[in-house]
Amino acid sequence: MSRAPHAEGRSGAGLSRPLATLKGVGDRRAADLASAGLETLDDLLVRFPIRYEDRGHPRPLSELQAGRVASAIATIVTAALKKTRRPGFSVFEIVVRDRSGTARAVWFNQRFLKDVLRAGQTVSLFGKVEHAPGGVQFTSPQYEILQEGEALAGGWLGEPAPQDARELDDGPEPDDAPIEDAPDLPDEHLGIVPIYERIGTLTPRIQRGLVTQALAALPPDLPDALPDVVRRRMQLPTRRDALFEVHAPDRGADVDALNRSRSTGHVRLIVEEFFAFQAGVLLRRRARTEERKPHAYRVDDALREKTRALLPFPLTPGQKIAVRDIVADLQKPEPMNRLLQGDVGSGKTLVAMLAALVALESGLQVALMAPTEILAEQHARTLARFFATTRHAVGLISGRTGGMERRETLARAANGTLGVAVGTHALVQETVQFARLGLVIVDEQHRFGVVQRADLRRKGTSPDVLVMTATPIPRTLALTTYGDLDVTTMRDRPPGRAPIATTVRPESRRDEVWQFVRGELEAGRQAYVIYPLVEESEKIDVRDATAAAEHLAQAVFPEWKVGLLHGRLGAEEKQRVMDAFAARAIDVLVATTVVEVGVDVPNATVIVVEHAERFGLSQLHQLRGRVGRGTAPGHAVLLYQSPLTDEARARLKAIAESGDGFALAEQDLILRGPGDVFGTRQAGLPTLRIGDLVRDASLLIQAREQAARWLDEVGPSDPHLARIRETWADRFGLVHVG
Ligand code: ADP
Ligand code: MG
Repeated sequence: MSRAPHAEGRSGAGLSRPLATLKGVGDRRAADLASAGLETLDDLLVRFPIRYEDRGHPRPLSELQAGRVASAIATIVTAALKKTRRPGFSVFEIVVRDRSGTARAVWFNQRFLKDVLRAGQTVSLFGKVEHAPGGVQFTSPQYEILQEGEALAGGWLGEPAPQDARELDDGPEPDDAPIEDAPDLPDEHLGIVPIYERIGTLTPRIQRGLVTQALAALPPDLPDALPDVVRRRMQLPTRRDALFEVHAPDRGADVDALNRSRSTGHVRLIVEEFFAFQAGVLLRRRARTEERKPHAYRVDDALREKTRALLPFPLTPGQKIAVRDIVADLQKPEPMNRLLQGDVGSGKTLVAMLAALVALESGLQVALMAPTEILAEQHARTLARFFATTRHAVGLISGRTGGMERRETLARAANGTLGVAVGTHALVQETVQFARLGLVIVDEQHRFGVVQRADLRRKGTSPDVLVMTATPIPRTLALTTYGDLDVTTMRDRPPGRAPIATTVRPESRRDEVWQFVRGELEAGRQAYVIYPLVEESEKIDVRDATAAAEHLAQAVFPEWKVGLLHGRLGAEEKQRVMDAFAARAIDVLVATTVVEVGVDVPNATVIVVEHAERFGLSQLHQLRGRVGRGTAPGHAVLLYQSPLTDEARARLKAIAESGDGFALAEQDLILRGPGDVFGTRQAGLPTLRIGDLVRDASLLIQAREQAARWLDEVGPSDPHLARIRETWADRFGLVHVG
């Protein structure tokens, strides 16, 4: 992993110095650091401590009081792993001593400590003090080895080679190092102490030594990536001061703020990163508004009249706003780049068709891209029906259309007689050429990488692009992943839609659930039963969808037709099954998550999700959106397998309590983090070194506002601007788009 050279380093201020130039870093430690992505002094300094400990007032052991949190510095006298009568349960106990007396510390089920803590070491302990037989003890305290004992200073158990270890360890003999002598330790180990995440052989203590050296190497006039005007406006410290505050806090600093990453130093460094990122996003967006599209749209009364005639139902308020935004974009000289967000069932397809109509009536072609073949085929049928009374032709180009039909559709796309080409990613292949591509619509955008969007854009010269998603994107992510898009959000659903009731049940109550499903079937309705996708290589305890379908057909619903749909079926077979379900030739559709997006069968009123604990919130919400599409109420039953992790429990509780896809998306982001929700690189998320899209959401928004204001004020030759242009994409690990 090579990192973009950081600006300060390149300007020669020395922060690009390799870490190996620090005292105490030999080959082995350098390799460990490199494996954690740390190569230069700068890398080390923009890595925050994971927490801070206030060792400002270590207590003499004789003064420890039960019921308090305390810190102490003392020498280990004995250390032993105690067996207990409970099988598999162990207690590790040490006795420590300082000049004032002795105390004990115990940890439960942490056997490995016997290889870490040994007699002779000087340690700091920090944690809760409790009553214990014969006095008080620390119970499961945080600990840190401040000095190895004499007998142990060698390289044991993968600890650093002696010469490495000794360099920072030239302390007094352990027995001579009671608490009064503690100041003999380098200062950085006392006061409010930053704790870094261990890297290989590098303990937090060793890292503190390195950081101290790196701080000492900071030039007095450290260049600042945050423009001065912005820094002053936000009342933030200089970069240099911030680095000191984060890595070497004053004794009187606010430990709580430090631990929440909210010291002014933290805030400043986070803002610096977000500012650079957002300035780049906004620059890209501004560059786009300077682009000119070669085609133009005609929007007149004749078109309005046609539209009215084609509309199958009155638009919802959300649809009206979306259409208005899109038509306004189309009439601008620069290409549209808009994201349309709308919960499942909010009617995005109709909006897409109206946008397509505007393009078609202006003599332009439209490409509509869907993430799966099933969905592409469904869209092709819906569009063909919508445009049936017009002169505009709709064609399907998917992986499975072959031979004659495919050649003909391709030829018509190329000669311009095909109005709308609907397809999967096959549409972005080089073989598809358009005569006059004006508008590109991408459905369920979250399923596509940014690269594909760019590919498709290249098909025409600067076509207008509309991307649609049913996975609501939390605001912070929208500002990053889609930071250069304009966003329209539809929050309403078409009228007359039935509510969806969600219930969560343990697997043990599956029989009751089948009973309920049977009731719906008897009322003439249909049902989905969903299984998580099984990776072939994964040996996890999932009921295989195939086996389940057989079991359901034979033992549970013998009087009903049970169908099976999974990713490994051929495209034709998939379509056959979906068609049969839509035509009510199948009553119960057992499926893996291939039905997740877009499928529309209004007569299906119940969806049972097996192993619901394995699905993300957004995914569960999408699945649930398969029902309640007609006038009868929908039911989602989420079956889970015990025991649940806390996170899974929180997820199931959230989905049962909220029907709002936007609220759930925010929740999902908090529970699982942006990487898991969206897949970092694929989704175009930036590689951030310190900023956290969840923790620092409000700072991101402030940084964006500041970046916008600064871009308005700044001269074209500003050095910060040049640097952002040069390094932005590399620095944030993003692919260039468009
Ligand atoms: P999604 O936003 O999930 O893609 P769809 O476009 O598939 O939603 O629409 C869901 C259903 O709602 C479709 O059956 C569609 O015909 C219907 N629908 C869309 N707009 C309206 C409307 N304005 N009034 C009534 N029904 C509508
Ligand atoms: Mg849709």
